[in-house]
Amino acid sequence: MEDHHPVPIFLYHRITSGWRAARPGDTLRDFRHQLDLLDQWGWSSMSLTELVECTRCGKTINTSVYTLTFDDGYRDLLDHAVPELEKRKLKALFFVSSGLSNACWLRQRDPMPELFRPDELRDLIRRGFEVGCHGATHIRLNGLSRRQLVQEIIDAGEMLASACNGKIEHFSYPYGAHDDAVRSAVREAGYLSACTARKGWVAADSDVYQLPRLSLARALRCGFPPFPRSR
Ligand SMILES: [Zn+2]
Repeated sequence: MEDHHPVPIFLYHRITSGWRAARPGDTLRDFRHQLDLLDQWGWSSMSLTELVECTRCGKTINTSVYTLTFDDGYRDLLDHAVPELEKRKLKALFFVSSGLSNACWLRQRDPMPELFRPDELRDLIRRGFEVGCHGATHIRLNGLSRRQLVQEIIDAGEMLASACNGKIEHFSYPYGAHDDAVRSAVREAGYLSACTARKGWVAADSDVYQLPRLSLARALRCGFPPFPRSR
């Protein structure tokens, strides 16, 4: 039987053009360097939909592939990251919250960052990228009432689908916070997968509603890639 290659899903937030990066390793220069490395290693990009399809169907992945995801929907990704992805013909998914004007975490930031507008989300989909749901107001979902879960998971996805004129098939738990009730609500809402903030690689038997992710910047500092193998 062929070896199944575990797949890293890389998690990004913001890519900045200057030295004032939101986090170390998140400048455009770092991002280009990271993509260059993946290219030099001969890795290729796979969309989250393709990866989830392989995982759900038990299809063996026998090449080195990776998946790119961006959480929160920072609008300046359009200036820096998106052109870089297009130039390299890379696939990526952007997780956005549907009701971001109500998100308290954003209002606490000064200056408040701008986020994707609906027309820009539609344009991203037209350009071949994927859009996923990151809740409605970016609050921690564990411990919420059933009614709140409906708003944050089902209503948020429907709102995004209508804003994007497209399908919203993947979910990302804000702050990576989830529990049994949250995962059940995501599954029942019809999402095909959900990403966490737990570190790890996606293996053949990974739970598609608890997909681990990696920060490539952080992983490189720790000697990435270790090229794990699962049997
Ligand atoms: Zn987030």
